[in-house]
Amino acid sequence: MDQIECAVIGAGVVGLAVARTLAARGREVIVLEAAEAIGTSTSSRNSEVIHAGLYYPRGSLKATLCVRGREMLYDYCASRNVAHARCGKLLVATAPNQIPQLEAILARGKENGVFDLTRISGSEALALEPALECAAAVYSPQTGIVDSHQLMLALQGDAERDGAVIALKSPVESIDALGKGFVIRTGGDAPIDIRATCVINSAGLYATQLARRMRGLDARHVPPLYLARGNYFSVSGRVPFSRLIYPMPNDAGLGVHLTLDLGGQARFGPDVEWIDAIDYDVDPRRADAFYAQIRSYWPALPDGSLQPAYAGIRPKLSGPGESAADFMIQGAASHGVRGLVNLFGIESPGLTASLAIAQRVCEMVSFD
Ligand SMILES: Cc1cc2nc3c(=O)[nH]c(=O)nc-3n(C[C@H](O)[C@H](O)[C@H](O)COP(=O)(O)OP(=O)(O)OC[C@H]3O[C@@H](n4cnc5c(N)ncnc54)[C@H](O)[C@@H]3O)c2cc1C
Repeated sequence: MDQIECAVIGAGVVGLAVARTLAARGREVIVLEAAEAIGTSTSSRNSEVIHAGLYYPRGSLKATLCVRGREMLYDYCASRNVAHARCGKLLVATAPNQIPQLEAILARGKENGVFDLTRISGSEALALEPALECAAAVYSPQTGIVDSHQLMLALQGDAERDGAVIALKSPVESIDALGKGFVIRTGGDAPIDIRATCVINSAGLYATQLARRMRGLDARHVPPLYLARGNYFSVSGRVPFSRLIYPMPNDAGLGVHLTLDLGGQARFGPDVEWIDAIDYDVDPRRADAFYAQIRSYWPALPDGSLQPAYAGIRPKLSGPGESAADFMIQGAASHGVRGLVNLFGIESPGLTASLAIAQRVCEMVSFD
């Protein structure tokens, strides 16, 4: 049986960031990925926004790791030539009755250490983005966009340079916690058994399912999971905006926003659709609600311009109507299994926070 120090399960942006950090610290690492390629799940089905850190409660993992991760990510992208742009964002109150919510988010952002936010009037926002309609806005200059696939390729390259192995088509089927170390069994075309000193469960939408099947881990430590699909629509032609435009957030998402890719092409989303099983099909009938939401800040959106694009699924730890849950990063201090770190509920801002999450995981894991 092969023996390795660290097995990272899942080659999404978080698993790859963890593998890179562990390998850079001289650890032996294998990344076990079920799919045929890296980053085919949530890490390639999102808005690709580098968040500033406005929305999350002070002191939460989401707030702390987003703010820290954002600066780490900008530095990393610059040093590794990963395409990105600090394009800025306008968070808009589309009607006067939303201004208290806008001001509460502004205050929360400042509490989180995002100090360069500016509260501006509707006419000042219009001067920045002439096609916009709003009552007031907050301008966030630190918000940006990143090519998430280039980012993952760079993380993979760094990890491999430092000796990590990325094993594709290697779905983890079972994990036995032995008291000291783990036995991991993979399926796929070439099943193998691996002995590992530590396991990082970074399997995204499947992390809770995998943990529940782990022998030696008390299932009481595994939270329930709720799936919230976020659908996106693209728009034909260029849009008259150069910054990201976000409406007020709702109970399970940040609102149907305008995000731009690095080529300047726009997409709108994600909305929130609670689902029971993983399914990425976008129902074209959802366009009606998109037109209404987008026209609340861009009234000139032409009829017939939206097309269904893609969807991502949020691995949520809170259900419909419940207040938003934080990321859950569980080490031995919470579940009692030495060498195991479970990553649950890594929804937005997990892309932004990935490098900071990796740093935290590496500080939590023990090798003895
Ligand atoms: C709609 C939407 C929009 C978002 N927008 C943003 C944004 O703009 N900015 C931001 O910062 N964050 C955003 N996020 C969050 C961000 O995309 C995620 O936090 C991040 O991609 C999570 O990465 P991950 O590596 O944890 O998970 P994943 O990318 O899901 O990777 C998990 C990997 O594990 C693999 N796997 C699963 N089970 C097994 C198994 N048994 N064996 C082996 N491999 C397995 C999967 O194949 C997958 O490759 C968004 C999320 C969603 C859903």
